[in-house]
Amino acid sequence: MSNIDIEVLRLGHRRGRDPRITTHLALVSRAMGASKFLLAGDEDDKLFENVVSVNERFGHGLDCRYEKRPLKFLRNIVNSEGNRPTIVHLTMYGEPFKSTIPSIPTENGIIVIVGGAKVPGEIFKISDYNIAVGNQPHSEVAALALFLDALTDGEGFNQEFPNAKLVIHPSKSGKDVKEV
Ligand code: SAM
Repeated sequence: MSNIDIEVLRLGHRRGRDPRITTHLALVSRAMGASKFLLAGDEDDKLFENVVSVNERFGHGLDCRYEKRPLKFLRNIVNSEGNRPTIVHLTMYGEPFKSTIPSIPTENGIIVIVGGAKVPGEIFKISDYNIAVGNQPHSEVAALALFLDALTDGEGFNQEFPNAKLVIHPSKSGKDVKEV
């Protein structure tokens, strides 16, 4: 389990075409230990309902909220102790993730930004790190998962989820799910 406070900001959500991929971003964030998921772009309460339902069944792990003004939010961001978290923007134009992660300060928490259709240029400037998971275009879900795995040194999936009603036990064959 990693003790880095991780928040994920999803930019440019489009209610018409992005709900599935944005939900996957939220679920990866939850499964890999992020504490908050911030949605920018179109408002989409239905998407949050999905995450709330997963939290209720599999344990509480992620708070979601809508962020109307992501740039203003990023300009003013401080953590609960008044310190500024490190802002990391995932982009195929950035620096290589594996060699750059060791230099990223994590003690004040991390905001990980994943883009949508078009990422405003200011995001590149406001971010402390522009990080590439390979320099080819692929998927924000894959980029987030690989980045969080490397950031947490492979511990991202080792989370405990309080108040779970369902607990899955690893099984060689079939589904081993206990109702609590
Ligand atoms: N054309 C868009 C732009 O202006 O950057 C990129 C769209 S891409 C489908 C959506 C998001 O996936 C990006 O904003 C980025 O966060 C993430 N992404 C895609 N490929 C990536 C890569 N190789 N490394 C890091 N992030 C990547």
